[in-house]
Amino acid sequence: MLDPKPPVLSLSSAELEAWLVTNDLPVYRGRQIWGWMARGAASFQAMHDLPKGLRAALERDFRITSLRPVALNQADGALTTKTLFELDGGHSVEAVVMRYTDRSTLCISSQAGCPIGCPFCATGKFPFGRNLKAHEIVEQAVDAVRVLAGEERRLSHVVFMGMGEPMANYAAVLESVRRLADPELLGISPRRIVVSTSGLIPRIEQLAGEGLPVTLAISLHAARDELRDVLVPINRKYPVRDLVGAAQGYATKTGRRVSYEWVLLAGVNDTEQDAKELGTLLRRKLAHVNLIPFNPVEDTPYRAPDRAAIRRFREMVEAEGLNVTVRDTRGREADAACGQLHERVMRSRVPVS
Ligand code: SF4
Repeated sequence: MLDPKPPVLSLSSAELEAWLVTNDLPVYRGRQIWGWMARGAASFQAMHDLPKGLRAALERDFRITSLRPVALNQADGALTTKTLFELDGGHSVEAVVMRYTDRSTLCISSQAGCPIGCPFCATGKFPFGRNLKAHEIVEQAVDAVRVLAGEERRLSHVVFMGMGEPMANYAAVLESVRRLADPELLGISPRRIVVSTSGLIPRIEQLAGEGLPVTLAISLHAARDELRDVLVPINRKYPVRDLVGAAQGYATKTGRRVSYEWVLLAGVNDTEQDAKELGTLLRRKLAHVNLIPFNPVEDTPYRAPDRAAIRRFREMVEAEGLNVTVRDTRGREADAACGQLHERVMRSRVPVS
């Protein structure tokens, strides 16, 4: 049965202080509580430098988290782990932790499902569920901190590239970014936070005015409207040239280079024509192109290009004068393309190990 108590991270710092005052407790305890959450405390009892009475009061009034892990998968010799969390009300979302020598990155979800419906994406195949609340986004990060702390690692980067279109849940995403960056909470530099979008131009313009130097990533995948209308249907509303104009407005205002994501689909967007169109679109812009070899999704007509095709496309894009990298294909075995663990669990209806 659902625990009706609010999760503690649903409180703002001011609300937590008000609760402490109501309970005749000193307000500085609030910083201690956030400090424990930032270290990934698994329970209120684990906050052992808090008085017993305070721990009991926290337990009486709050839950430590609203997320319930229902499936876990790993790949790359456990360097990539993917957790499926059930949310209050029954929807579920995925979070992926990727471990590298110099950093640990969390790929976070902002919506249960996604309303954009890109035809190559596992998440887009399911009916849209709901927007996540800010605390549900932050709780994914706190869980990653806890898991990584057990391995003597620190969460250093967060990318909003899991399930959902972050800009379609703008207020909660922005609040969660502020909390992830809050030095009293997780203290992750906004420069190490990437917010991606399929192209909601008004929200890109709004984000540029927030004074938060997060990295903007555009899920581009095609440089001409005819193809992008199919691959990223929101393009019909916000055409690609207008989108790049808005993204460059963001780059100019924040001084942050924009990352353009390009999922490589064999024979669809990996041709010489595509490379040339991309070159024309982005040349002399503050931009970086990130090529992502497609991670095949069942029941879609798309295929992954082979290694030679990936190298060829990269060289063609470089020849256009653009900065380009190929993202490593972390997590293929872990169903790490967004929505794939969710899809597998939904299909089988049993937790996977
Ligand atoms: S690729 Fe991203 S924007 Fe498109 S349907 Fe999937 S989650 Fe949504």
